[in-house]
Amino acid sequence: MKNVKCLKCIKCGREYEALPDATTCECGGILDVVYDYDYIRENFTPDDISSSDNYTMWRYRPFLPVEEDTVQPPLRVGWSPLYEE
Ligand SMILES: [Zn+2]
Repeated sequence: MKNVKCLKCIKCGREYEALPDATTCECGGILDVVYDYDYIRENFTPDDISSSDNYTMWRYRPFLPVEEDTVQPPLRVGWSPLYEE
């Protein structure tokens, strides 16, 4: 995750490597995502988001804590799509 520096405990401040399944610290605190805003600023612009024709949550992929090769699930999430039963 190039857009993430690390995960940081909101309770004790301990930092962890940003791994997909890491959610809590050894102290029980929640791990918050520390984004690399310099990387994001250098690689993405607001126009990249506003001009995107991807009307799902993946439109915001540069700001999501996911691996670059994470596959988008087939079910659309975001923009409240309706599906026929
Ligand atoms: Zn902690």
